[in-house]
Amino acid sequence: MQYNGIDFTTYLKNYPDKNGYFGKYGGAYIAEELQAAMKEITEAYYTICKSAKFISELRTIRRDFQGRPTPISHLERLSNSIGTGVQLYVKREDLNHSGAHKLNHCMGEALLAKYMGKKKVIAETGAGQHGVALATAAAYFGLECDIYMGSVDIKKQAPNVARMKILGANVVEVTEGLQTLKEAVDAAFAAYAREYKDAIYCIGSVLGPHPFPMMVRDFQSVIGIEAREQFLSMTGELPDAVVACVGGGSNAMGMFSGFLNDPVEIYGVEPLGRGPKLGDHAASLKYGEEGIMHGFNSIMLKDENGEPAPVYSVASGLDYPSSGPEHAFLHDLGRVKYDVVDDEETIDAFYALSRLEGIIPAIESSHAVAYGIKLAKTMGKGSVLINLSGRGDKDMDYVIEKYGIR
Ligand SMILES: *Cc1c(COP(=O)(O)O)cnc(C)c1O
Repeated sequence: MQYNGIDFTTYLKNYPDKNGYFGKYGGAYIAEELQAAMKEITEAYYTICKSAKFISELRTIRRDFQGRPTPISHLERLSNSIGTGVQLYVKREDLNHSGAHKLNHCMGEALLAKYMGKKKVIAETGAGQHGVALATAAAYFGLECDIYMGSVDIKKQAPNVARMKILGANVVEVTEGLQTLKEAVDAAFAAYAREYKDAIYCIGSVLGPHPFPMMVRDFQSVIGIEAREQFLSMTGELPDAVVACVGGGSNAMGMFSGFLNDPVEIYGVEPLGRGPKLGDHAASLKYGEEGIMHGFNSIMLKDENGEPAPVYSVASGLDYPSSGPEHAFLHDLGRVKYDVVDDEETIDAFYALSRLEGIIPAIESSHAVAYGIKLAKTMGKGSVLINLSGRGDKDMDYVIEKYGIR
């Protein structure tokens, strides 16, 4: 399929280019001392991850350990409650082992570490979701695991800190600056620059310098590949629209990559939080501008000094001031439409899916559900496939405390 001059039949092979660019976005803006390390990972990715042995081992892991393929569920009661005849479906990444899509790329990254002969994986975490997924993968492969986390986040995310420790990870407290995600990223990168001979850095989304946006997309593409096949066999046709929430953008890229070459409308949903004022949301593609942070060029929210702006979302997995470079590219191209839902709409959707379908979604995923419901109200007929990126157990206490039972 051609779209605005791009041939989507060969898109996934051609993008990013060999320097990691999706059009003008992406690249690798990194310190001198990290360049050799990134080059090593890029070369290993192209040789090892494309080998039949690696692919077959990862397939077995996905089936026997992760529990894939995850199903697609038809949301009959929720669809009926909307009343336009539009049918909603969810891809159940909440049923992926450890409760979200993040394990898809963590198992790939840790398997690559094993093939490269590394002894340790290093990462940062904010809310702790990426740390838990990586600690799970490290335990499976018998790798050491250092997770850098700000002191403030360590206090806020006690259950995830406990999970990481039980899984055998070393949670390294970062006490610099505001003691949150940004400082944890800096500390993890610094540790990686020191230890790259024995360790590999594992990023948590389609972010960071080349090759990570490509590598994480490719590991997450299992979502879209499965979903396309499952939806066709369930309904005999493709969905009219596909929806996913976008923080860094990994669950969305995994889903979208399966449908880019199809006549399917694709929607990425960003958190509008408390409203459109800077600082009240994390809708970087909607309100941001071009800029470089954390090693890549993309669209980001900036403060008055041009630095990454403070952001807010009720979903801690979505409060990042930028998005992966591929989303910026697909945004400018118009192939994917990016829109927003606010906190209130999100919590309504959280309860709607719980009450009408018996599925408690993560607050991140509830953004996609909220948008799917809105979309279904504007469509006369057809079907919408929503990526349910994770389960909501981690969010239950918070929702009850802040919003009460609805
Ligand atoms: C981390 C997380 C997200 C956001 O990350 P993406 O890279 O944008 O997918 C979304 N949903 C859940 C359940 C998460 O844990």
